[in-house]
Amino acid sequence: MDDSQPRSVAEGELGSRCIRQERPAPSVARIVLARPDKRNAQSPELLYELDHAFAAAVADSGVKVIILAADGPDFSSGHDLAAGFSLPCAPVATLQSGLGSDGIEGHYAFECEAYLGLCRRWREIPKPTIVQAQGRTIAGGLMLLWPMDLIVAAENATFSDPVAAFGVNGVEYFAHAWELGARKAKELLFTGRAFTAQEAHQAGMVNHVVALDDLEEFTLGLASRIAGQPEFGLRLAKESVNRSIDAQGQPMAMDSAFALHNLGHAGNLARYGQLAYPAGAETIRANARRTASPS
Ligand code: ZN
Repeated sequence: MDDSQPRSVAEGELGSRCIRQERPAPSVARIVLARPDKRNAQSPELLYELDHAFAAAVADSGVKVIILAADGPDFSSGHDLAAGFSLPCAPVATLQSGLGSDGIEGHYAFECEAYLGLCRRWREIPKPTIVQAQGRTIAGGLMLLWPMDLIVAAENATFSDPVAAFGVNGVEYFAHAWELGARKAKELLFTGRAFTAQEAHQAGMVNHVVALDDLEEFTLGLASRIAGQPEFGLRLAKESVNRSIDAQGQPMAMDSAFALHNLGHAGNLARYGQLAYPAGAETIRANARRTASPS
């Protein structure tokens, strides 16, 4: 089979190998990343299974609040680069030309759909979404946190975006300055170090920091409290806040950063024949061996 071409699959063919769906309380759906052996690395298959699960929870009139959780010690180690860059199903977030093309044309089409496109689609889920994060969230893992409405972090949670080492600006859903403020965002990106849950909380990125053992119960309690509100009021409140952020220019800024991100990929392709700066992986591994201390 030619892996360079997106496969067009029949509805329902996409399985649930990477995702688990639960109904832990009345009116609450929980979607769980279930690739702990891969630290919940995001293969294209995982991303589209997740999208299908979100769509099912949105379509279910018995669901008012959606929790996103993850199995294992870490929330997500980011994009699963070994899984490649072809779609496991037809595009759902965008209309694209160039999917499967060589070079930056094909990769840009893939990122428009599978990264930025899916994140924007999930940000606009018309029901409140809460994500609970434990352990490490690295680079692409932030794409699964930031489009959600509320973030609950375990005390052991850390957050990093070390991809300047790859010769790009940061993860494709470039909300850094909104999530952390400009100076903290620059520190995160320039150093590549992991921010602690408390640092992320102080910066306003995280709603609550709780003990790891309390993460599931606390998040479920928060979801159940929200589920007691009228569904339409929740939707209107969410859309109003999202439009407030849009009015500050976030979509335009994100489009600009996304173009620069792909300028980085294109430059790497031209100079090194690959999307990432060749020594980047070793730099990131060395960074990860350090503690989260600022120095
Ligand atoms: Zn990229």
